[in-house]
Amino acid sequence: MHHFTYRDNRLFAEDVDLTTLAEEVGTPFYVYCEATLRRHLRIFADAFAGADALIAYSVKASSNISVLKVLASEGAGADVVSAGELHRALIAGVAPEKIVFSGVGKTRDELSFALDANIYQFNVESEPELVALDEIAQTKGLRAPIALRINPDVAAGGHENISTGKSEDKFGVPWSRARALYAMARAMKGVEIKGVDVHIGSQIDDLAPFEAAFKKVATLINDLRADGCVIERLDLGGGLGIPYGEGATPPHPQAYAQMIKQVTASLGVQLIFEPGRMIAGNAGALVARVIYVKDGASRRFIILDAGMNDLMRPALYDAYHDLWPVVKNTDASEAYDVVGPICESTDRFAKARMLPRQHAGDLMAIMSAGAYGASQTSQYNSRPLIPEILVSGERYAIIRKRPTVDEIMDGEAIAEWLC
Ligand SMILES: *Cc1c(COP(=O)(O)O)cnc(C)c1O
Repeated sequence: MHHFTYRDNRLFAEDVDLTTLAEEVGTPFYVYCEATLRRHLRIFADAFAGADALIAYSVKASSNISVLKVLASEGAGADVVSAGELHRALIAGVAPEKIVFSGVGKTRDELSFALDANIYQFNVESEPELVALDEIAQTKGLRAPIALRINPDVAAGGHENISTGKSEDKFGVPWSRARALYAMARAMKGVEIKGVDVHIGSQIDDLAPFEAAFKKVATLINDLRADGCVIERLDLGGGLGIPYGEGATPPHPQAYAQMIKQVTASLGVQLIFEPGRMIAGNAGALVARVIYVKDGASRRFIILDAGMNDLMRPALYDAYHDLWPVVKNTDASEAYDVVGPICESTDRFAKARMLPRQHAGDLMAIMSAGAYGASQTSQYNSRPLIPEILVSGERYAIIRKRPTVDEIMDGEAIAEWLC
C-alpha cells in the first residue's frame, strides 16, 4: 500500500499535488511519502511483535538522510555496506547499537571506522575479512561482534542479477566451510562470535526459498552450538518482494513472520532483519515530463526527461514499473515505448506499454521507484542528480537538491600542463 492517489484526476503524494510540485521544483524528481515509510516499517515491526527482533533498514535501498531519520524515529536500525552509508546512518541519528555492517569488500579503513563507531555487528563474508577484522580489533584492544554470512546455496530472487544465495554468487562463506570458519573465529582474540547471518537475494516473491535457507541455517546453529559456539543472534537479511504492478502478490510480512517464527521457535535467538525494498519501494515515485512524442518506423516513443542514470532498475534488471499519468485523460490508449534521453539502447522504462495518448509537456510518474532508485543514480551524460522530495501531509521538503552544471564539475580540474 502507498499514499499516491488521484483526486479529480490529478495525482497526489499524500496531500501534495504533483502537478504543482513539478512546477515548483522542476522535473525530473523523486518524491517520497513519509506516511508510507512509517507505515511499512510498522507493518514489518508489528509482524514480529512479541519476538526479540531488530529491524536494521538496508540503507542502500534509499539512503537519503531524511529517509533514514524517519525510519530511525520509528526505532529502526541500519544495515550498511560502506563507510559512507555508516556515516549517513550516524548523521541521521541511528543508534550504533542498532547498526550492522554487511558487504563482501569492506576495506581495512572501513572496518576500523566501524570498530571505532562501536556498531552492533559485523556480518563477515570471507576468511580474509575475518583475519583482517581480528587483527585490526586487536590493535585497538577491542573485540568485534561478528556473525558469519553463510551462503546457503539456495536459488532465490526475481532476476539472476539480484540472487545472492547460490553457491556461484560472490556473497557469504560457503556452506561447507561454515563450521571450520566458526572454529577459527572462536580462537581469535579480536572477534567475538554473536550470531549467524544469511541474505539470499532481493525481490523474492515466494516464501519457499526463504524457508529453505532459514531451515538450513537453523540446523547450522544447532551444529555450531554442539561445537561449543555461543550463538545469540540470527540475522535473516532482507529480500522480501513488493508488488510492482497489478496482480503481483508477494508474501505479506505477516506470512513471512509466521514462517520465521516457526522455523526459529526452538533456537532462542534475537532475530535481525535487513529489509530495504519492502520499506522504501512503494513509498517513492519518479516524476518526469514528456519531452517529445516521436513516431519511429515501427514504434511510437515517449521520450521523458528522466533517463536510466536517474532510475537504473529497468536497464539493470529488466525491471517493470507502473507508469501513471500525473493528470489522467480519457483519450484512447496506445502502445508506447517509454524511453529517456540517454545515448544507450537500454535507456528504456517500458516497451509497448498501453497508455492514454501522451503529449509533449505531460507529466508521468514512474511508480514504486522508492528503492534502488535515487540511491543508484549517476551523472552519466553530465546530467545532474535529480532532486529528492519528502512529502508529509501537505508539506514537502527538498531533501536532495539538484546540482547546477558547475557543481557537476566540482572536483574536476584541467591538468596544469594543459592550461
Ligand atoms: C541489499 C541487501 C539487503 C536489502 O535487500 P532488500 O531486497 O531491499 O530487502 C539486505 N541485506 C543485505 C546484505 C543486502 O545486500
